[in-house]
Amino acid sequence: MNKYIAKILNGLQERNAGEKEFLQAAEEILTSLEAVVERHPEYERAALLERFTEPERTVMFRVPWVDDGGNVRVNRGYRVQFNSAIGPYKGGLRFHPSVNLSIIKFLGLEQILKNSLTSLPIGGGKGGSDFDPKGKSEGEVMRFCQSFMTELYRHIGEDTDVPAGDIGVGGREIGYLFGQYKRVTSKHVGVLTGRGLSYGGSLVRTEATGYGLVYMVEEALARRGESLENKTVVISGSGNVALYACEKAQSLGAKVVAMYDSDGYVYDKNGIRLDVMKEIKEVERARIRVYAERVAGAEYREGCRGIWQIPCDIALPCATQNEIDGASAKSLVQNGVKYVAEGANMPTTLEGIEVFQKAGVVFLPAKAANAGGVATSALEMAQSSGRMFWSFEEVDAKLKGIMVNIYRNMENAAREYGMEGNYVAGANIAGFEKVAQAMMAQGIV
Ligand code: NDP
Repeated sequence: MNKYIAKILNGLQERNAGEKEFLQAAEEILTSLEAVVERHPEYERAALLERFTEPERTVMFRVPWVDDGGNVRVNRGYRVQFNSAIGPYKGGLRFHPSVNLSIIKFLGLEQILKNSLTSLPIGGGKGGSDFDPKGKSEGEVMRFCQSFMTELYRHIGEDTDVPAGDIGVGGREIGYLFGQYKRVTSKHVGVLTGRGLSYGGSLVRTEATGYGLVYMVEEALARRGESLENKTVVISGSGNVALYACEKAQSLGAKVVAMYDSDGYVYDKNGIRLDVMKEIKEVERARIRVYAERVAGAEYREGCRGIWQIPCDIALPCATQNEIDGASAKSLVQNGVKYVAEGANMPTTLEGIEVFQKAGVVFLPAKAANAGGVATSALEMAQSSGRMFWSFEEVDAKLKGIMVNIYRNMENAAREYGMEGNYVAGANIAGFEKVAQAMMAQGIV
């Protein structure tokens, strides 16, 4: 391994001991940048990687709120403002009991390169809380969001840091967060994206990550003279990304046969009935097992891992980090998977990635494949600041153009550095080069 990169990885392990997700993401990124660092010795002199892996600012705060029973509860809030070299910090908020500093830092680090890949002027950040919206009443979710924003508002702004949704933060939460921001600042500005259409949101933002993911798969297939028509697809998760990936894949002729939530998965050999799934997940906010009770021929199985044993042409992991380990990757390969595109962030372990790459599977990494969400957020920012509102077709066409462009940029970067077909390296290099140039130009900051 390149000496400079080895030194950085050792240093990160010492300074961030115990932050396993952050260290995993840093290793995945840095080990693919060896050729870039060798071509640019000036980066080491400017301690570029030391600065790139250290957030510009980390805010951690107390979030007190009162539940329906009158009990005082306390959660922890985070905002990691990782890198603003190419634009204001941008990245989602995650509300999930597993959230900790390591997870927010891994997501923030990935976000820097993802945002750069979109070609839009947005830096990288991420935030969230260990609050679990599941099982909470509307009133409890609202009071939590209000308390969270009562601290967060000091650190964000339409030209400094613009959060969006992520796991556990959808349209409802963004609404409550925005309402409180406006209340405490008296400003109706584009400080959050993913807003409702009646108060500054953009068409296609809800669908964007899932649609964008499938647009990229469509491009990868087209390059090989294929299409989604009649392909069998397995999608993990049944949240925002998963549902709209399913919608777009089906509209392009694919058959989606399985999806899951954190309890278990449904297998529907006739193809998932998206209207039923959306009713259960978006309207009723119920568990996925209900699907098998309603749709004849569908089966429900407890536990998530079994989903990767279902034979498919295309796998789209769209739930959370580290869903596909080496063993799951091996069963997918044995069962004939040809394309894996990551809708979630870091859903494949380093071992899983190696299995796919060795088997010649076309592996499209998260920072490229799920960039459609943040790209459309940036389009929402453009509409907000220009006081404009674009049609669905206009935004959708821009999204598709951005996804195709990302695919080509990562393909070209991989080829330029002698790693043709390695999209992990291609995405990291293409994203990093722009950030590195901006950081070098701006001096030691
Ligand atoms: P949602 O909260 O809408 O959905 C998350 C889904 O994943 C749910 O079905 C949830 O099941 C499942 N899930 C969460 N944690 C686990 C777990 N530990 N094991 C099994 N299943 C789990 O989130 P999103 O769809 O917005 O996000 C999904 C992924 O996509 C995340 O990795 C996120 O970072 C990434 N992403 C999202 C973007 C967006 O625009 N929303 C943009 C780019 C990336 P359950 O309901 O049972 O918890």
